[in-house]
Amino acid sequence: MSTFQELGLNDDLLKAIADIGFETPSDVQLKAVPILLEKDTDLVALAQTGTGKTAAFGFPMLQKIDMDSRTTQGLILSPTRELCLQITNEIKAYGKYCNGLNVVAIYGGASITDQAREVKRGAQIIVATPGRMKDMIKRRLVDISKIKYSVLDEADEMLNMGFKEDITEILSHTPEEKNTWLFSATMPKEVSNIAKKFMVDPIEITVGNKNESTNQVSHEYYLVNARDRYGALKRLADANPEIFSVIFCRTKRDTQKVAEQLIEDGYSAGALHGDLSQNQRDLVMKSFRNQQIQMLVATDVAARGIDVDDITHVINYQLPDEPEIYTHRSGRTGRAGKTGISMVIVSKSEVRKIKSIERIIKKDFIKKEVPDGMAICEVQLMSLANKINDTEINPEIDKYLESINELFTDTTKEELIKKFFSGEFTRFFNYYSKSRIQNVTESRGSDSDDGGGRGYTSNANDTRYFINVGRKDGYDWMKLKDFLKEVLELGRDDVFKVDVKESFSFFTTDKGLQEKVIAFFTDFKHDGRFVNVEVSEDKGQGTSRNKRRSGGGGFGGGRKRDDSSRSERRSSGGRSDRGDSGNRGTRRSDSDSKPRRTESASSDSDRPRRSRR
Ligand code: ADP
Ligand code: MG
Repeated sequence: MSTFQELGLNDDLLKAIADIGFETPSDVQLKAVPILLEKDTDLVALAQTGTGKTAAFGFPMLQKIDMDSRTTQGLILSPTRELCLQITNEIKAYGKYCNGLNVVAIYGGASITDQAREVKRGAQIIVATPGRMKDMIKRRLVDISKIKYSVLDEADEMLNMGFKEDITEILSHTPEEKNTWLFSATMPKEVSNIAKKFMVDPIEITVGNKNESTNQVSHEYYLVNARDRYGALKRLADANPEIFSVIFCRTKRDTQKVAEQLIEDGYSAGALHGDLSQNQRDLVMKSFRNQQIQMLVATDVAARGIDVDDITHVINYQLPDEPEIYTHRSGRTGRAGKTGISMVIVSKSEVRKIKSIERIIKKDFIKKEVPDGMAICEVQLMSLANKINDTEINPEIDKYLESINELFTDTTKEELIKKFFSGEFTRFFNYYSKSRIQNVTESRGSDSDDGGGRGYTSNANDTRYFINVGRKDGYDWMKLKDFLKEVLELGRDDVFKVDVKESFSFFTTDKGLQEKVIAFFTDFKHDGRFVNVEVSEDKGQGTSRNKRRSGGGGFGGGRKRDDSSRSERRSSGGRSDRGDSGNRGTRRSDSDSKPRRTESASSDSDRPRRSRR
């Protein structure tokens, strides 16, 4: 079987398929469509993103439902609003010749009354996010008691996002005898549990190897010091002037921060994460789809399943917490038979994660060096030259040329070219002749991270801190590291060299985080007691701390001692801009010799600005 006709689809669908331009069914469509058309069965389908799953359930659903009835017969649950809208549009396009079809999207962040009104007009198919769906059921704004087909799309992601209870609740309002079709890119335990719980003898189909990532994607990693992460990102972008990419960060905060920094540096970038309003997210997605934005910085959740073709690069600014997530990320590129590159920026402490990912994707990464500054200048120059060469001449320009020509009568072609290109070249040259990034070699790192981050060598770019909690407060290094990561909302490797003593401890972060750490712990209370953090002179073992006053250890000591300096700091603007401006009497002398503030990546002044497309 190799054509849509042979799959058994009706004329209305075939006509729409021809309009859309699909020529042959994809693997998952080949396998799923005939089964779903012929049988009333439950189904579990495992296939990577970008394999055409929407049509694999959309075609059969459209063919099987009764368009003459206004009853809701199909329910599709998907994890995010973006996906929900995407699926809705897709189903509408497939069903454009199905007379009487009404597909309604139900998702949070938009008017529930509008959505209820749409449903009331008679929606044969509802595409919904679990949260809003549950809400509408509770308020009796939808009736799904006569559903015949339910689809759990991106099931693994829905479970990842904690929708298990919602899904259970929603399905409890649907009839027993309906069919459930579950689509997922991966098959973790939770997904098979769901399958067991809600499905009867499901037919299982798998496209490609389970969890295998797409073939057209090559995987590269760049090993740099953690502080060079952003600089490396810029170089990767600059070395690929035509880049059209998704950049993945681990947290919403980092996503926002990186996007802002890129924009400030003149890149055409945008952020996509859950803290943005729906409207903002829609706008960003629209610009990205239109390729007005070259770099979309996104969290995993927000970018999941988003289907934008022609993405040239996926950049893992930080690796995901779960190696399986990597396959979703890299699956954003290399779609529709095109090739793509998935790049990972790693620091030494994370490099062994690459190995776990290689096992999952069953492909090797290529270790690459961050491009050299001068090589980037050349790439940019040639890209500009090619663009100029490709530029179509606008005849309207002729009438303005006279005065321009006059200006250049004494200039040779050679000089003119040099002048013209120097503008662009100088911008990059000035920046890259100063900017340095050290490519890190792996061998030294193979002694590796012991999990607590110990074993790092001390480094002028790190900041060592003293914190007034220790073993007697119930901490060991792991607990303290977890605590710091959590309250500071930092990534897994941002806090390291955690060294816990009896009544106090030491830890280290990248210098760029110093201001934030100190500002955060100004007035910070935990379990009703003040936690005090200061920059420490001690960068090594953390065994001694000069001039440390005894008796101040523990939460209680901190509270008594520091109340006055705290209010002082607050009155001078709350947040110290010298890192550690709070006067801590004798305590701070050990950190006086350190520069308090470091240049973060965003503060290097004459970085090149990119012209927007
Ligand atoms: P998935 O849900 O598996 O991630 P989608 O259903 O979003 O994949 O489809 C990915 C892209 O491939 C979409 O742009 C879709 O229109 C396109 N597509 C789906 N089926 C076909 C096909 N048979 N031929 C060509 N393109 C297809
Ligand atoms: Mg999909």
